[in-house]
Amino acid sequence: MSDCLFCKIAAGEIPSDKVYENDDVLAFNDINPQAPVHILVIPKTHIDSVGEVTPENSHIAARCLEAVAEIAREKDLKNGFRLISNCGEDAGQTVKHMHFHILAGIPLDEKVK
Ligand code: 5GP
Ligand code: ZN
Repeated sequence: MSDCLFCKIAAGEIPSDKVYENDDVLAFNDINPQAPVHILVIPKTHIDSVGEVTPENSHIAARCLEAVAEIAREKDLKNGFRLISNCGEDAGQTVKHMHFHILAGIPLDEKVK
């Protein structure tokens, strides 16, 4: 999608602080970190949100989760991490390209909202 920020980051048209990349997935540090480790994992193919995952495109979401696990190993997040994917307005999704937040590096609040 030509006007999508994360499509532009995935294409290298907008720079990012890359932490992981393979053919299907890019991960980079969040520009406004909410924890010592705050990484965004995105598919290079545009999907609006987790709410748009279907049997036809679920392999793309699976590639993202495989990348999450690989990043957790590479970054040695053995104390744990939180994985968040905001979907839609009430969840506060600001970028309409599916992404997964990896938060780690500090004990995280138990609250989910
Ligand atoms: P959302 O609120 O949609 O779940 O998450 C979007 C995230 O993208 C936010 O945490 C925000 O800080 C991050 N973000 C927005 N624009 C940019 C950008 O240009 N570069 C990077 N690295 N992160 C961004
Ligand atoms: Zn996009």
